[in-house]
Amino acid sequence: MSVRCGIGYDLHRLAEGRKLIVGGIEVPFEKGSVGHSDGDVVAHALCDALLGAAGLGDIGMHFPDSDPKWKGANSLLFLEHTERLLDDKHFVIEYVDVVVILERPKLGPHFPKMREALAKALRVPVEKIHLKAKTNEGVDAVGRGEAIAAYVVVTLSAP
Ligand SMILES: [Zn+2]
Repeated sequence: MSVRCGIGYDLHRLAEGRKLIVGGIEVPFEKGSVGHSDGDVVAHALCDALLGAAGLGDIGMHFPDSDPKWKGANSLLFLEHTERLLDDKHFVIEYVDVVVILERPKLGPHFPKMREALAKALRVPVEKIHLKAKTNEGVDAVGRGEAIAAYVVVTLSAP
């Protein structure tokens, strides 16, 4: 058995009049992420981490934002599709570790639901999904509440 690691990163601007979708669920807030799809930074960074670990390119290649099919798309669909690509190549998702960087609101109370949504999309037990949240200490665009970002590291095993 061999082990592979993948890293993913994503950032979206925050604006009024948009829903804040993080980790597959809607978090009540006065602003939301701007993007062609639902702007879910966790789902997008996770997708890139999985594709990277499997050597299968990146999210832009598989779900181009020039394609009207993905306008307003629920990003959990990207994860479901990516999981099938990995499964076809007999990769097993061993662990997912996520850092979300956001000034407000507090995400901790929403983690149980996010873990459930992500685990379901990836067809793994919730114990394999770990989430952490940080602020940016008031620094830069994220710190001013103008953007949300996420880093994800995944571990895959291959036969
Ligand atoms: Zn994104």
